[in-house]
Amino acid sequence: MTSKAEARGELLAALRLSRGLTQVELASAVGISQATLSKVESGEARLDLETWRNVAEELLVPLSAFRAVQSSAAPARIFHRKQRTTPKSAVNKVAAEMSLVRLRVRDLLGDQTTTLRRHDLEGGFNTPQEIARDVRDELGLGRGPLGDLVAILEGAGVLVLRWPLDTIQVDAIASWQDDSVPVILIGEHVPADRQRFTMAHELGHAVMHDGEAGKEQEAEADAFAAEFLAPGSEIAKEWPADDSLDALLLLKRRWGISLSALIRRGKDTGRLTEQEYRQWSIQLSTTGMHRREPNPTERENPTALITAIRNFLDEGASVEELASSAHMYPREFQLTFLEETS
Ligand SMILES: [Zn+2]
Repeated sequence: MTSKAEARGELLAALRLSRGLTQVELASAVGISQATLSKVESGEARLDLETWRNVAEELLVPLSAFRAVQSSAAPARIFHRKQRTTPKSAVNKVAAEMSLVRLRVRDLLGDQTTTLRRHDLEGGFNTPQEIARDVRDELGLGRGPLGDLVAILEGAGVLVLRWPLDTIQVDAIASWQDDSVPVILIGEHVPADRQRFTMAHELGHAVMHDGEAGKEQEAEADAFAAEFLAPGSEIAKEWPADDSLDALLLLKRRWGISLSALIRRGKDTGRLTEQEYRQWSIQLSTTGMHRREPNPTERENPTALITAIRNFLDEGASVEELASSAHMYPREFQLTFLEETS
């Protein structure tokens, strides 16, 4: 259990990081010592109201943001590929934004539930492929092609948002805090063709992993994603006898995976030999198709959160009230949650 002071401190720290400020920077801006700020963030010290007012002003949130903190903004444990070139501060900022999103949505909509459950890879009793089939079963998806994957995940209680992630050079990140629902942020820069695989990869992390992902976990999440989107048994059955590009493009369309992911499936299921797979890869890259695939997949957009907010508004709530429950000024609330990205 987090105390009220701890929860408030966690919110403060998350807000500070999401604004890209160090403790020293914020402390000096509001005229307190870094040591005091550090204690406030861990819930061990208090501030007077005047200082809270200054803090709120520096962090661009209403003072009321700190009044009614109901849930913890404990730092998100995120799964992401380590990029050597990405500064730690940028990763911390995104982790802070993620924990803020979780807290804001929770204080806005109340406790959310998910129908997903965690799966154990430990000991090798289950492969990522088996877990992918189990998750399909749990969600009642059978073995066929999946429709709108974002809608499927939202239906299972996953919070999905499009988010600017190009700064940390990752396509998406996921986090599943113990007492909460999984959150997936998809980079706004991710092309539609890659988005479904990326989402399935993050889903794999969420259900199989705990904490930061290394090389092995990345391979597991990829294996999960491939089997989840396009089960090997089905792809093997449907693989075109003539191996023509046109037939593969139809298959790509039907299963909603990229051509590069599809030929990889062809290899994994033994429908393409190692050499045929290599020839396809070369063809895709020499024709530029690996970057701009023909027959592109349509973009899938999150709608659950915006719909819930619109329903509140229809029922007579004001943007100001909703923004306040989310610890935000109305303008930022609107920009973050109500403006559709295309
Ligand atoms: Zn990953």
